[in-house]
Amino acid sequence: MNTAGKVILVGAGPGDPELLTLKALKAIQSATVLLVDDLVSDEVVAHAPKGARVVYVGKRGGCKSTPQAFIEKLMLMAAREGETVVRLKGGDPFVFGRGGEEVEHLRAQGVQVEVVNGITAGLAAVTSLGVPLTHREHAQGVVFLTGHAQKGATLPDWQQLAAAARDARLTLVIYMGVRNAQHLQDQLLTGLPASTPVAIVQRASLPDQQHAVAALGELVATIDREGLASPSVIVVGDVLRGVAAAGEAVERGRVHAA
Ligand code: SAH
Repeated sequence: MNTAGKVILVGAGPGDPELLTLKALKAIQSATVLLVDDLVSDEVVAHAPKGARVVYVGKRGGCKSTPQAFIEKLMLMAAREGETVVRLKGGDPFVFGRGGEEVEHLRAQGVQVEVVNGITAGLAAVTSLGVPLTHREHAQGVVFLTGHAQKGATLPDWQQLAAAARDARLTLVIYMGVRNAQHLQDQLLTGLPASTPVAIVQRASLPDQQHAVAALGELVATIDREGLASPSVIVVGDVLRGVAAAGEAVERGRVHAA
């Protein structure tokens, strides 16, 4: 078996091409084949060498995304042919990016795999509002969650999370949660006050970023009123109380104080 090739899972960051790491840039420049996910900026893909084969495997152009099994097969075949395969993923490959599954699959097949971190959307979203994820006075930790569970899997226990967020003073950063916002709002309100600040940040770090800050009790109403949609992260917690003071946040989008 020819295993001279390898696969590098590379985090492309949240969208702003300047948020790419140097290590990611070097990996992209070394690629002979690139498999590019949705939500990866064209400016990032533009760093690929001229002769490299670029395959888009996301949902661009309204097409259905390429099945995961097919992507894994493609990576495997290319690596076995000696290619340097760069799998470009939005944000960080190991945060809700199926990176774990891909690494397991490739390693099981004897393929050399490396992973290069990227700045995950949740980090960029909160920073774009000019507030921190943790704060000595308001938040002792952060939980990254998916608001959208795999078919058949049980969703996170939001009631327990709400209680933990309240008692342990945690910031919640929810990916893929906009469509499920009514459920999130109802469940989180069982443990958190309706006045808890929430932010919805759409297309964080990109020039067309939009966001709104409201109270938890107004989460769904705010999403509807502002027309916010995927890709967005929902942030919940007292760190957002700083947003009103963060003048720069207003520059990029519309901010509604809680
Ligand atoms: N690996 C990615 C997450 C992939 S899951 C990361 O680390 O960021 C896809 C979800 O990520 C989207 O539904 C959305 O919730 C979030 N997301 C990705 N890019 C985003 C962006 N620029 N702004 C806001 N949310 C984003």
